[in-house]
Amino acid sequence: AYLDRIDAVDGAINAFLHVNTDEALLVAAEVDKARSDGDTLHPLAGVPIAVKDLIVTKGQPTTAGSKILEGWQSPYDATVVKKLRAAKMPILGKTNLDEFAMGSSTEHSAYGPTRNPWDLDRIPGGSGGGSAAAVAAFEAPLALGTDTGGSIRQPGAVTGTVGVKPTYGGVSRYGAIAMASSLDQIGPVSRTVLDSALLHEVIGGHDPHDSTSLTDPVGALVEAARMGQVEGMRIGVIKELQGEGYQAGVLTRFSESLELLRSAGAEVVEVSCPNFRYALGAYYLIMPSEASSNLAKYDGVRFGLRVVPEGTPTIERVMGATRAAGFGDEVKRRIILGTYALSAGYYDAYYGSAQKVRTLIQRDFAAAFEQADVLISPTAPTTAFKLGEKIDDPLAMYLNDVATIPANMAGIPGLSLPGGLADEDGLPVGIQLLAPARKDARLYRVGAVLE
Ligand code: GLN
Repeated sequence: AYLDRIDAVDGAINAFLHVNTDEALLVAAEVDKARSDGDTLHPLAGVPIAVKDLIVTKGQPTTAGSKILEGWQSPYDATVVKKLRAAKMPILGKTNLDEFAMGSSTEHSAYGPTRNPWDLDRIPGGSGGGSAAAVAAFEAPLALGTDTGGSIRQPGAVTGTVGVKPTYGGVSRYGAIAMASSLDQIGPVSRTVLDSALLHEVIGGHDPHDSTSLTDPVGALVEAARMGQVEGMRIGVIKELQGEGYQAGVLTRFSESLELLRSAGAEVVEVSCPNFRYALGAYYLIMPSEASSNLAKYDGVRFGLRVVPEGTPTIERVMGATRAAGFGDEVKRRIILGTYALSAGYYDAYYGSAQKVRTLIQRDFAAAFEQADVLISPTAPTTAFKLGEKIDDPLAMYLNDVATIPANMAGIPGLSLPGGLADEDGLPVGIQLLAPARKDARLYRVGAVLE
């Protein structure tokens, strides 16, 4: 049914870069057979899933939304993909994204933008717009995304779906093509809070292939989502993540969520995180710095595209021609920014200062979590904007991440869930919940009440 749905609507939406019909049907048939044989199956066996094309899959292409990886296939599966296969979840295909996950609209994909199922002239968020749009358009019940600065949560917000960025280290990054390694995290995309909890339990847990992987067990997330209870909990409204720059309709739905939590027995308090005003600036130094280093491996020799220029094909010239042709503008912009920030003489002033801001943000969170069990804010300042509206203005595009970035800077978990539709445009509004590191279960417990 999902493959039929993809056939029917994906021409207009462009959520998928690759659909793997044969493999998905094969796994579905295996599950049917196992079920009729009376075998014990994982609860999600047979539930199809879409995977962001930044996560490597053996036997299917992985492009990272870039021309530089066109036609490339990974020789191995990401740990999360191995886990999906072990649970016998049919992988429907790979979803569209901003090139190397750099963006907030999927307009930076080298394979054309994804469109928002709520309004095809609008963006589905980014970078994981393909995963969010696939779930929103009923092309997949579940999807995987990656979140470095909001790429699971912001697309969730603008497409009316649920998206979760787990605690840093809670889900293995082995096989997620690295953007900014100290910020990246794989997480679930779904229609309901409980569905995300179910998927989170499948993909979470320790992995010796990822040196930053936590050794804790994944935790009782499904139980928390089923419990859905906030009585006696303290919910902290982040003062700095509301007001100016936030759309009126977003703020109305946000206040209603606070009311709902109060009436369910939570104590709603205000917390202040004064250093959040520097978060965006610090992120756009740290993220490009790490990306410029991570992307150095696309040299025309090891992966995908190789362009051999006319004349003497020296290694430098092949590398230069390959990277010039293979990377899009946004990726080049960030490589240049990151290389500059890391260069001798500037390292302390830029990268060093940004790291200090990162510590200040972590301290803001630590102080806020002394006053509240869970923090809350709108996920994004506005509803989905029009395709093309911000494509020529990188700073306007970056501002979308103002509420999501702090969680990545601190490594804490965050969940975005639908908070209703904005009055002025009838488009989905996202509500973001944040919890201390390793307390992902709290997000599900509170999220289930708000849903
Ligand atoms: N929009 C942010 C950026 O462009 C976040 C990206 C992400 O989380 N992958 O960097």
